[in-house]
Amino acid sequence: MPVDEQRYKQILSELGEANTLVAVSKIKPAEDIRELYDLGQRDFGENYVQELVEKQPQLPSDIRWHFIGHLQTNKVKYIAGFVHLIQGVDSYKLLKEIDKQAARNNRVIDCLLQVHIAQEETKFGFDDAELESLANQLAAAPLEHIIIRGLMGMASFTEDKEKVAAEYLSLKKRYDSLSRLPLVNFKFSILSMGMSSDYPIALREGSNMVRIGSMIFGKRVYPVKTG
Ligand SMILES: *Cc1c(COP(=O)(O)O)cnc(C)c1O
Repeated sequence: MPVDEQRYKQILSELGEANTLVAVSKIKPAEDIRELYDLGQRDFGENYVQELVEKQPQLPSDIRWHFIGHLQTNKVKYIAGFVHLIQGVDSYKLLKEIDKQAARNNRVIDCLLQVHIAQEETKFGFDDAELESLANQLAAAPLEHIIIRGLMGMASFTEDKEKVAAEYLSLKKRYDSLSRLPLVNFKFSILSMGMSSDYPIALREGSNMVRIGSMIFGKRVYPVKTG
């Protein structure tokens, strides 16, 4: 399936210079990523560790790989050597493991904290109490090999635009208040919110990074599991 070049260019012009597009390439083959790369795209988002480690060596080394899925602690080691930004950090335990694996690779890894803003129970992320306790832990014992660059969130999957806007606004408010905390591990500049279905709303509510997949690469067809 070829990439939608016209859509891609339109999205870039809507975003302007100040905002970053992460092209979400999960489930899509390396050829599709290459096609978009040739149009100038460098930031790509992947959700699955195994898929990412298979694609990464097949593609140019100046791609900035964003891990946007739910990351299991025991898989951090596979991506720690090259990942550009881990967007889905949803526990202190995971952050500690990223710090450890970053140290092993002589790197400092940039992360975003995923915040739970949607009503759906299934979406991962910190709530307010957990964010506060994380901030306290980092204040007491800073980690040397991670920097938290901001927040990431997913709104409810709904047609109700006002609800989506309210959820994104709530994330922007948390971003503003956390960014004022004087923690060495906090260097906030990224608010990652918005996908194909809702990115114009997210931008209006203060997003500066959107994660767009299907609108550029076409609908994802997941392989059917048999047996
Ligand atoms: C799949 C995914 C996206 C992109 O979704 P589209 O609807 O295809 O734009 C964005 N963010 C996360 C966390 C995702 O898992």
